[in-house]
Amino acid sequence: MKICVLPGDGIGPEITAEAVRVLKALDLAVEMEEALLGGCAVDATGDPYPEATQKLAQAADAVLLGAVGGPKWDSYPREQRPERGLLGIRKQLGLFANLRPAILYSELANASTLKPDVVAGLDILIVRELTGDIYFGQPRGIEVRNGERFGLNTMHYTESEIRRILRVAFEAARKRSRKVCSVDKMNVLECTQLWRDVAIETGREYPDVELSHMLVDNAAMQLVKNPRQFDVMVTGNMFGDILSDEASMLTGSIGMLPSASLDANNKGLYEPCHGSAPDIAGKGVANPLATILSVAMMLRYTFVNDAAARRIEDAVKKVLAQGFRTGDIYEPGMKQVGTREMGDAVLAAL
Ligand code: NAD
Repeated sequence: MKICVLPGDGIGPEITAEAVRVLKALDLAVEMEEALLGGCAVDATGDPYPEATQKLAQAADAVLLGAVGGPKWDSYPREQRPERGLLGIRKQLGLFANLRPAILYSELANASTLKPDVVAGLDILIVRELTGDIYFGQPRGIEVRNGERFGLNTMHYTESEIRRILRVAFEAARKRSRKVCSVDKMNVLECTQLWRDVAIETGREYPDVELSHMLVDNAAMQLVKNPRQFDVMVTGNMFGDILSDEASMLTGSIGMLPSASLDANNKGLYEPCHGSAPDIAGKGVANPLATILSVAMMLRYTFVNDAAARRIEDAVKKVLAQGFRTGDIYEPGMKQVGTREMGDAVLAAL
């Protein structure tokens, strides 16, 4: 298992170090090599996604990323912004499937802004198509027509693009509670009528998985009304962008949320959902659990080692049950710890 490790900027190096320690403790046959991405790469080479990093990322089976960005680079020209590095690696590796679990551990039920009885035990996986839809469709732009400004974007999907993301969702559901809810807006948008048709066709390949459909406006409501009805939700790029943020906020704790972006062969880029948190960088207080849980996703989806993934997830549950909390998830009566101590606690629980 060849893993390219990209610690990045801000808290990235601190949280990635803990995830790497956890991975090493599992005693699997892994080879890890570090490279530069984001602001640190701009500082060293002038390029947010340098040649050497590209080679390493392309040769690896999986990429583990901390986070990129920070105020230092905000005024740099667009091609030297850290986010360019992130978009560059996603595009180059053809990562079309974004998987974002929203899990609310019962110990953290008070962290959500929703009532604990609505969200306790929440465990949803949002599967978002990442390389198509209105975000990439041509023509696009702002022009003047009939004497006034006119804005234009184009929504489109091919049936093969829809089918491949649906298959990712069905395969993921087979590892969970075997329910897929496909989200569209077929009552208004022809493009998503095709989405629904292809979802129904693809569903026939997975008779063991229950398929349902929901319009996106209703899905947004149901996510806050009764989120536990969902197992896997699958949708296009734009709806997924919005629904995955909504779902992750149900849990109330950004430091706990991992993500995976996969290509057609399950090669993946794994990273926490949060950013580089410049406000707390270098202080040793960041929550490393989202990055550690991203390693669990890597083991499950790229290396097909569910047992090892579960070991990490169980260890995280155990440290929460033992009362260990970083500042972002702290509640009175719990043991407040820093990044390294949280890593130590996970290692001890393993
Ligand atoms: P952020 O997620 O970095 O921080 C938002 C808030 O959450 C901050 O108060 C931060 O301290 C806190 N936080 C985030 N992660 C935490 C953790 N692990 N433990 C404890 N607290 C945590 O979002 P932002 O402030 O909007 O962005 C900061 C920088 O990160 C920007 O440069 C942005 O472009 C970049 N960013 C990068 C990514 C990425 O690398 N994928 C994603 C989002 C933002």
